[in-house]
Amino acid sequence: MDFASLATEYQQQFNAKPERVFFSPGRINLIGEYTDFNGGHVFPAAISLGTFAGFTKRSDRTVRMYSANLPQAGVIEFSLDDLSFDKAANWTNYFKGMLFELGKQGKQIDQGFDLFVHGNLPDGSGLSSSASVEMLMGEILLKAYGMAISRVDLVKVGQQVENDYLGLNTGIMDQFAVGMGKKDQAILLDTNTLKYEYAPVKMDGYVVVIMNTKKRRELTDSKYNERRSQCEEALRRLQTKLDIQTLGDLDQDQFDQNSYLINDDVLIKRARHAVIENQRTLKAYQALQDNDLVTFGKLINASHVSLHYDFAVTGKELDTLVETAWQQPGVLGARMTGAGFGGCAIAIVKEANVDAFEQAVGQVYQDTIGHPAEFYIAHLDDGPRELTK
Ligand code: ADP
Ligand code: MG
Repeated sequence: MDFASLATEYQQQFNAKPERVFFSPGRINLIGEYTDFNGGHVFPAAISLGTFAGFTKRSDRTVRMYSANLPQAGVIEFSLDDLSFDKAANWTNYFKGMLFELGKQGKQIDQGFDLFVHGNLPDGSGLSSSASVEMLMGEILLKAYGMAISRVDLVKVGQQVENDYLGLNTGIMDQFAVGMGKKDQAILLDTNTLKYEYAPVKMDGYVVVIMNTKKRRELTDSKYNERRSQCEEALRRLQTKLDIQTLGDLDQDQFDQNSYLINDDVLIKRARHAVIENQRTLKAYQALQDNDLVTFGKLINASHVSLHYDFAVTGKELDTLVETAWQQPGVLGARMTGAGFGGCAIAIVKEANVDAFEQAVGQVYQDTIGHPAEFYIAHLDDGPRELTK
């Protein structure tokens, strides 16, 4: 999609050309899974798949929105004077929530807009289409309304939208990865302090292949909350003897020497994942600094194994994709990405092997699971931006 194709789609809906066109990426998390609420590091990157929007400012206080991904919902209309949660058209809440939460901080807009949205991220698949649309709204407020706010603050508002406006228990990683993305770079983010560093990712003839299980997330929310409270309980038990704020404060030796305090097999496994995954993430960052994609690949394999055995969030679909990927020629590593239980996995694959890779993994997946997987190439990309004609 580009300016011209978006403009054409917009015109079919709103009978005029859009004034401006914006794009906001999705994200993958390279490594550092389930570390975010444990005070650890995450290592995500914005990707070339994302959400496009044609935009025209209006002179009144009306907002009209249409998503090509949800044509049955039709055009949704509301006024800037009523930014309350819309139960019937839930997708609009991701945009409306940004206006609402910013309004609470005294940052209002006085003119409404017409918006035509079209994304090419698979929805609800763990590539953060929600953060993509939140940061898309943020970009429009920055560029078209000149709102005085930093990108990091927009990221925080995006998280507030999910936590407060939508009532979802999510961390800061998604909005941060999307909002702060840079081409060919990943972001090492300390979720405790929000300190971050960019790491150049030189792919050297390799590409990141996203593998989509096409499995609808079902129990994800309740399992996510369960994992969260298990980690909190393990931390409480460690704190009876140790002076630590988060599991991310421990290295592997400290954990091994003190895990007896947790005194429960399941809780020890959950906490061990959080501690070691954080260490692995720091090692993965170092491997990329050293241009050592081979070591990086091994670390992401280890991440998946830990998410399978210790954290138990993979499931048959993700395991089938990842374990089959490991066996293919030209693959440096593969792991699930996002919350798990379905959604997507990533693999680092030699460019020349990609077609054969998709063919082979796709066949095994179809035979084992009974429905096809989908594959996309992800280029690490810039954050939200305006597209020119
Ligand atoms: P994820 O962020 O992993 O893709 P979420 O459940 O957090 O999954 O967010 C997906 C929701 O975001 C969709 O159900 C929809 O409400 C909203 N959304 C994302 N992209 C679009 C889009 N292109 N058009 C309309 N709504 C969208
Ligand atoms: Mg989301």
